[in-house]
Amino acid sequence: MFTPTRAAALDALEGFLPHAGRDYARDRNHDNGFERTNVSHLSPYLRHRLLTEREVVAAVLARHRLPDCEKFVQEVFWRTYWKGWLEQNPEVWRRYRREVGEFWLDDDAVSADYHHAVGGRSGIEAMDAWVTELVDTGYLHNHTRMWFASIWIFTLRLPWQLGADFFYRHLLDGDAASNTLSWRWVAGLQTAGKTYLATAENISRYTDGRFAPTGLATSTRALTEDPLPSRSTIPVADQLPPVHRVGLLLHEEDLDAASLGHDHPWFDSEVHELKTGHSAVDVVATAAYADPADRSPARVSDTVRAFTEGALEDAASRAGVSAARPATVLPDALASTVLRWAETERLDAVVVPAAPVGPVQERLATLRSALASEGLTMTTLTRRWDALAWPHASRGFFAFRERIPALLNQQGL
Ligand SMILES: Cc1cc2nc3c(=O)[nH]c(=O)nc-3n(C[C@H](O)[C@H](O)[C@H](O)COP(=O)(O)OP(=O)(O)OC[C@H]3O[C@@H](n4cnc5c(N)ncnc54)[C@H](O)[C@@H]3O)c2cc1C
Repeated sequence: MFTPTRAAALDALEGFLPHAGRDYARDRNHDNGFERTNVSHLSPYLRHRLLTEREVVAAVLARHRLPDCEKFVQEVFWRTYWKGWLEQNPEVWRRYRREVGEFWLDDDAVSADYHHAVGGRSGIEAMDAWVTELVDTGYLHNHTRMWFASIWIFTLRLPWQLGADFFYRHLLDGDAASNTLSWRWVAGLQTAGKTYLATAENISRYTDGRFAPTGLATSTRALTEDPLPSRSTIPVADQLPPVHRVGLLLHEEDLDAASLGHDHPWFDSEVHELKTGHSAVDVVATAAYADPADRSPARVSDTVRAFTEGALEDAASRAGVSAARPATVLPDALASTVLRWAETERLDAVVVPAAPVGPVQERLATLRSALASEGLTMTTLTRRWDALAWPHASRGFFAFRERIPALLNQQGL
């Protein structure tokens, strides 16, 4: 279903554009199986930024008036909202990581019921079919994700963290913020006390009668947790120190060097230059690296690995400094491998697209220390899209949604 290239992403966007207006607002909640055209299937591309949120919204707005495509634009902003929220509440991610780690350290903590559920043997036909679809394709429709999470937590009474981990290891669009916070939302943790209950009637209606499960929980009790620390502020953007030989390192959170240049005041991706004060420094080398295994202590699916690998190759094929200086795909995501690349290229600085809270941000923190110990600097470039929107994701989505017209305006859209 998903070819991991920017060209395939642009084709998918083009094919979906006619449906992104009123049709989407009316039909988006239906999941009528593999042939669905009522949703975009763009999330694996957006999640790796083979396509950017800005260009998707720009293309939709070029085709439809805002009142007609408002619903679709809002959905794209849900992705941005979740990221901005997690950025200000990183303890939620740290706890999730710790708890998942604890489950996988102790075999007894992972029950036989868990293994039945992820093996497609829960005894609930719909769940078993969705497990197969997720494992085979790396994708599930949004409404189906909601039903799945609700049945997992309230009917099968399995730990939400392991459900989120199962999704994260199999979804091509697996995303620290959207995934963790959506599972928390279903469980009644994200909006404290407010749960999502999947009902047989709703499932039957929106799957056009494909599924009508029996025996589902008919009530929910919201999960609880220790109070969270107060919100942190979003870290201030890095400043570029005086540097001479700079390398650009792409990673799986952001694989479009060209638009990074249009989206950041210092970086001109067309001439491969970084502007520092009044002068400009050449970007002399580019590389790309990723490690989908960072998503979980348990095994990440081969489908996710293959998609990430393909996306990396595709990004590298577009990111070379010149025909004679193509980008390098690094063989792994170890700091020592990046250091070797930097040494070969005689770099004194590495710039990277900023990564939101999640495994890549953790990996970049380790890399920053490793580079510093060898006298190299690392500077992150935050896209304008994120820098403008994230600070507004401090409360609920409905307050954030009010800011969308102003955010579009600031983006020139
Ligand atoms: C339990 C659960 C787990 C989820 N895990 C992830 C995840 O790991 N990664 C992920 O990208 N999305 C996740 N989502 C959100 C959503 O289900 C997917 O983004 C969406 O289904 C992707 O399909 P699409 O591109 O066809 O969506 P469309 O309906 O065509 O929407 C267009 C775009 O808007 C964004 N979007 C739409 N709905 C949401 C949403 N509810 N939250 C955030 N962004 C949204 C996506 O970028 C999507 O590509 C999760 C939702 C739930 C309920």
